[in-house]
Amino acid sequence: MNTTHTYQVKGMHCASCASNIERTVKKIIGVENISVNIGTENAKITFDAKITSPKMINQHLEPLGYSLMVPKTEAMGTTTIAHAGHLELNQSKSEKLAEIAVMKKGVFGALPIAGISIFIMIWEIFGRYQLVTPMSLTIYEFFHHLLPIFATYIFITIGKPYLLGVYRFFRYGSANMDSLIGLGTLVAFIYSFIVSAFEEVLAPYLSAQYNFYDVTIVVITFIALGKYLEAKSKLKTGDAIEKLLGLQAKTALVISDGKEIEIKIEAVILGDLIVVKPGQKIPVDGVVVDGFSYVDESMITGEPVPVEKTINAQVVAGTINTTGTFNFRATKVGSKTLLSHIIKMVEEAQGSKAPIQALADKISAVFVPTVLVIAIISFGFWMYFGLPVFGFPKALSFALTSFVGILVIACPCALGLATPTAIIVGVGKGAKEGILVKDAATLETLHKANVVVVDKTGTITKGKPTITKVQVLGDKNEQEIIGILATLESKSEHPIAQAIVKHAKENNIAVTTPSNFEIIKGKGLRGTIDGVEYFVGNLKIISDLNLSYNTHSLEQETKQGKTPVLLANKNGLLGIVFVADPIKPEAIETVKALHKLKKKVVMLTGDNKNTAQYIAKIVGIDQVFAEVLPEDKLNIIKDLQAKGNIVVMVGDGINDAPALAQADVGVAMGTGADVAIESAGITLLGGDISKLVKAVKLSKMTMNGIKQNLFWAFIYNIIGIPLAGGAFYPLFGWLLSPVFAGFAMAISSVSVVSNSLRIKAMKL
Ligand code: ADP
Ligand code: MG
Repeated sequence: MNTTHTYQVKGMHCASCASNIERTVKKIIGVENISVNIGTENAKITFDAKITSPKMINQHLEPLGYSLMVPKTEAMGTTTIAHAGHLELNQSKSEKLAEIAVMKKGVFGALPIAGISIFIMIWEIFGRYQLVTPMSLTIYEFFHHLLPIFATYIFITIGKPYLLGVYRFFRYGSANMDSLIGLGTLVAFIYSFIVSAFEEVLAPYLSAQYNFYDVTIVVITFIALGKYLEAKSKLKTGDAIEKLLGLQAKTALVISDGKEIEIKIEAVILGDLIVVKPGQKIPVDGVVVDGFSYVDESMITGEPVPVEKTINAQVVAGTINTTGTFNFRATKVGSKTLLSHIIKMVEEAQGSKAPIQALADKISAVFVPTVLVIAIISFGFWMYFGLPVFGFPKALSFALTSFVGILVIACPCALGLATPTAIIVGVGKGAKEGILVKDAATLETLHKANVVVVDKTGTITKGKPTITKVQVLGDKNEQEIIGILATLESKSEHPIAQAIVKHAKENNIAVTTPSNFEIIKGKGLRGTIDGVEYFVGNLKIISDLNLSYNTHSLEQETKQGKTPVLLANKNGLLGIVFVADPIKPEAIETVKALHKLKKKVVMLTGDNKNTAQYIAKIVGIDQVFAEVLPEDKLNIIKDLQAKGNIVVMVGDGINDAPALAQADVGVAMGTGADVAIESAGITLLGGDISKLVKAVKLSKMTMNGIKQNLFWAFIYNIIGIPLAGGAFYPLFGWLLSPVFAGFAMAISSVSVVSNSLRIKAMKL
């Protein structure tokens, strides 16, 4: 049996690291699959626990400089519980901060030295053009002897990862970004060392004037600075999770033996009676048993207005009570709460890979060896063609400049960060607005969809119908009809059923228990009371019974949007109850906005045709499929897809589940605690359909961000590599100094991460 787990991986610096890890782990026997995300620094591994273990996998990775963080719970053979996972996340955050602090110290120690080197470089250049008086020989000599010491110092303090990269390259044949930089700077350093140490001996062949100590110093410092800035801003991309974690209360006030006692949140169990005082956080999910208040649910649903809570209202963990006091019964605790679900889902979505990343991944995988080859070719080229033109010392210096420049500027870093950082920010932004995204692929597809299919009940209408009229057709009176209906409906969960039961209770009509109860999907239900079998539902039920009924008499009501609920036994119709489900005010606005985004809106419903059309017209829906059975909803989606449409399906997630799964993007209207989060690609918390428009915009924004990132990352390498290689030298005399290469490389990943962070501030 294969299991899939996600582990933190330490020691990753770049996209090529991700592909290195993937390649290595895939080769291990017992591992079925691995997917590494450089954005979250997580690896999702599917493996056979009988053959291999995270520990064994780790043993393969350690020599390459990576380590798999195995949570303690899992090391003992049990699966991780959501909370253990969260603790892990917090720990890794503080570890990250410590790591960044170390980086900072190194970089700030190196910066003054790099500053001096740059100063000398500039002086030399200006001096050559007589812009400043050339450096006096004594000063020059002084620095000349100091630079090797500086360069050595830099290598020892912040250059270690690059030297290790070179070591791993020769020892294991696995190269990453660090190997390239290490190789480039080390070659530059060794060359410089040779020419300055054997200055006199080599004088006829090589000139000590062309040394690269400054290059070594500045390149390593810039790259370390870039990495430090990148790590710092990357930390910011993931703060949505941290904010969500912060919503969790630490303790709960539980009533036990009539006394209020404060207990740790972990100790709360199902069924506990919990008090919530003004201003307090709701600790777990539950149902209000007494009291009254308004609760601020904005952190979960994105709705700014506090929600009224009286008896039987659902409350969810992480929301904040305003001024009232109430007691509630815990119905979901620990990893089962909505908040825990959300955190888990956001974590998983942020760690998932968007299909658009595939190309960048493929390139990163072959990037390092390709660049190495290009650098060597370029070196050979300069030596061969440069020799007759410049002479040996200068040709060698050119060849080395291009070699080091190429190794330094070529960086799959920006390429690797382009997609995941934007996804992390996009998913996090969604969560803040009450839009839960299941994975990166969903976010990628959503804005491309051209057809939005909506379910009627609960999506366009409130899903809270009320009875508007009761029509008696047989020998039973109105009271009796409601009594029978409510008895049967008391077993159903359909919104219509709830309306009828509520109506009966309000009118003090007795509700008993039916026998032989059965739901007839898409039509209604049947059951026996006092030995008589009854049928409840729409016209399909009546025609199934072969009862004749003049449907025209219904039209007056249905054309005004009322849904008929027919009650019959085998002999004939007994009565009809009409129910009306109010349209959600935001539905009309949403359809308008979707039209503006050039999306066609289609409504699907099991309800009566006239009723559906009435509602569709008010809301502005383009096309209606009414009286459809649940299994046909799926087929309608399939048909739409077969015609080349990209289809979004919005439903309440219960009987729409197959259609939600079939659609290119399934959107569930998660209303409070009873969300079926898993069933759809996107869940709109709070059941607010207008969030669909925001979700589409978010999708577009994120994808635009990714495309910009990818564009710049590609362009940067496409121009940078030939520039560093000296391809433009014969034409314009341009040869990129490795110093600029280092600088460019440092800003490239920082700019990609910053561009992703920009999404955070954009308006939805
Ligand atoms: P929808 O979610 O669009 O209402 P359903 O498949 O749940 O679709 O129901 C289709 C139709 O069947 C409803 O519009 C209603 O007319 C009838 N129906 C289903 N369940 C019940 C019920 N419990 N009581 C009365 N009518 C029902
Ligand atoms: Mg429905």
